[in-house]
Amino acid sequence: MVSNELISYLIDFMVGEALPEGWVGYTANEEDFAHYRLVFVPSGFFHEGTYGTASSMPAEPLAQLEGVPVLFGKPEVCMYHDTLVVHADLPASAFFLMTRYEELLQAGRDVHNRFDAQHALAKRAGFLHRPLVDEYGTLIRKWLDELGCHLASAPRGFSKIYLTHDVDTLDYYHHLRGTLGGFKRILMGGNEKWTDILKSWADINNDIAYTFPWLIEQDRKLPEAEVCFFMKAADKERNPYDRPVYDLQTESLQGFNAFCTENTCKIGLHASYASGGNATLIAEEKKRLEEAFQKNVTANRYHYLRTCSVDDMQALADAGIMDDFTMAFADRIGFRMGTSRPFKWINPKTLSLTNLTIHPMSVMECTLMSPNYMNLQYSQAIEQIKQLMDKIYQYNGEVVLLWHNTSVMDPQGDYARLYIDTLDYIGKLHEMIVQ
Ligand SMILES: [Zn+2]
Repeated sequence: MVSNELISYLIDFMVGEALPEGWVGYTANEEDFAHYRLVFVPSGFFHEGTYGTASSMPAEPLAQLEGVPVLFGKPEVCMYHDTLVVHADLPASAFFLMTRYEELLQAGRDVHNRFDAQHALAKRAGFLHRPLVDEYGTLIRKWLDELGCHLASAPRGFSKIYLTHDVDTLDYYHHLRGTLGGFKRILMGGNEKWTDILKSWADINNDIAYTFPWLIEQDRKLPEAEVCFFMKAADKERNPYDRPVYDLQTESLQGFNAFCTENTCKIGLHASYASGGNATLIAEEKKRLEEAFQKNVTANRYHYLRTCSVDDMQALADAGIMDDFTMAFADRIGFRMGTSRPFKWINPKTLSLTNLTIHPMSVMECTLMSPNYMNLQYSQAIEQIKQLMDKIYQYNGEVVLLWHNTSVMDPQGDYARLYIDTLDYIGKLHEMIVQ
């Protein structure tokens, strides 16, 4: 049974601020309509016997209300005496998008057992590029305004900018295994250079994957941005996709830790591929990372964005993770959660709010140009990013970028160029609101 508290949270979140009591209600009881200025009529989505079953899934094609797709209820609005009655169940629609609800019922997954855009309603119904939850908020604001309930205008601009980097490997050659692997590949005819190996041995700063100084140089172009490196802390060799497992005790890692401190960068947990299928590993990985870096770790992003179950979010909350930055589809950019604004995780199994804040991810670089994913040309990729940033800006959302240190090894390469151009575009938009 859904609580009044949760419905209020959803309505306030859509609008972007806490509404006074008596403005918006959620009831099918006509006798109660007069207590509110605006009423949403529940569609039955949360009813016992419907919730959690196949019959709770939205009927497709989706209805549209004032040009906005509605997942539940009817796209009808009418007056009942002085109360505006909305038959579109926007609280349930927002809930569906913000909680990964469809993953409870939809079995389709990709090769990594991730729920991907290919199986998602947002892609199928053609609204992944639209922050529907935020659009619902605009509709509610408009209706309230027409009813004489005036709110300060909705803020625009970026509420926060996170520039984040997942460190899947710290260096290529500055450790014995990396060196041996490099020489082996060269002997087998690979196109790596033995001079790169030697240079890396002389100084880790010369390693082709140690691009952190370059990344920081770019990140500083947005002085207000928070920079975070997500570090792996998997147990040895649990899963091939977690290789290489770097040793957190080495001088190289400790040097990197000092580099992060000097540059006021945060450290987050890059939860392992294995933990994405086994949430019990999260707590030990967090502890291992905290011991190695001598820092409190409260942020997380899953390696491969691999969170196979909505239960993972509860496991993160239980392990003391306060902020998660995983939530985007690996195979397509857009608004996986229906918004780019941060919100408290709602567990769709218990219908309760948790202490975990979800920061929807805006862009992972490889989503755009990798042949496995969108496979775009450079010009298309930057265009997609600009359109996404415009939407985030319009709705006062957060920018969360993910660029790997290994994708910018060639500073003239496409991903390096894309990063520079993306930061440049964000900076220009951001200045518009600052001035
Ligand atoms: Zn990773």
